[in-house]
Amino acid sequence: MNRSRKIIILSHCMLNANSKVEGLAIYKGAQNSLISFLIEEGYGIIQLPCPEITLYGIKRWGHVKEQFDTPYFREHCRNIFMPYLNQIMDYVKNGYQIHGLIGIDGSPSCGVNKTCSSTKWGGEVGEEFGINEKIKDLKIIQGKGVFIEEIENLLIQKGTNIKLLGLDEENLSSQNAIIEFLKKNVIYN
Ligand code: SF4
Repeated sequence: MNRSRKIIILSHCMLNANSKVEGLAIYKGAQNSLISFLIEEGYGIIQLPCPEITLYGIKRWGHVKEQFDTPYFREHCRNIFMPYLNQIMDYVKNGYQIHGLIGIDGSPSCGVNKTCSSTKWGGEVGEEFGINEKIKDLKIIQGKGVFIEEIENLLIQKGTNIKLLGLDEENLSSQNAIIEFLKKNVIYN
């Protein structure tokens, strides 16, 4: 009776920073302010699986998009998203509103507006293997991470459209822009 029929989909680590690459978390557990807003506004929250921890575990190194841009990782992304795609289609068919999917900007997997890139990152670690040159080549570029690309393709194939929103966790204005968008109550699906 009381349900809002409003749903938001979040990248896994917004509710569980423990899934991030060691050293990258800037909050202890769940991202507080944006999640508090979502709860106060009555959104039901779907937490996506983390595509990296479910393949490489918690001891993984930080990667760049080029390393994940493989048929194997893309297949993994599709496989873990399929059960969520089915839920989304069922909700939409029954009149529920998916207000957006919030990814993590800068991530090689979950970035929406920005992702991290290098053509040199990979291989052995050590000065003798050119580690300094590899580090210098790391950059943030415009574009989506691999998981978000696969999600977007699957949504398009199903003929549904969900607004993709990127959270830059170190930039408060990014969070505020997401809140302002959600307040407008624009539904794409
Ligand atoms: S892959 Fe996505 S869900 Fe997993 S830690 Fe990175 S940004 Fe978060």
